Amino acid sequence: MTELICIVCPKGCHLKVDEENGFSVTGNSCPHGAEYGRKELTNPTRVITSTVCVEGGTLRRASVKTSSDIPKGKIFEAMRLLDNVTIPAPVAIGDVVVKDILGLGVDFIATKNVPKL
Ligand code: SF4
Repeated sequence: MTELICIVCPKGCHLKVDEENGFSVTGNSCPHGAEYGRKELTNPTRVITSTVCVEGGTLRRASVKTSSDIPKGKIFEAMRLLDNVTIPAPVAIGDVVVKDILGLGVDFIATKNVPKL
């Protein structure tokens, strides 16, 4: 039995996941917690947030995030892809900044509008 705190919403339910019983979850107040608990023990994933440089914009950096969650084991490799990325202004929320990260079918997308200077 593994105990976890659900991070899907601020309520922070205390979950218990029973690995010997099909990863059944108790302590969740909603189905999202059951899904989170199962996934956290079988294939943990996270949405990543970061920033990239912007050229010619009213701000020098724009925030980005992955369009979906990616395996936890790929986080650092994915972050390294952003090290040398500079995008031209204007930047609009939802713009694809890096397509198909590590072949995972997930993009880094902008989460901030940055107008041209
Ligand atoms: S189980 Fe549901 S209500 Fe509880 S923290 Fe997770 S998402 Fe929120």
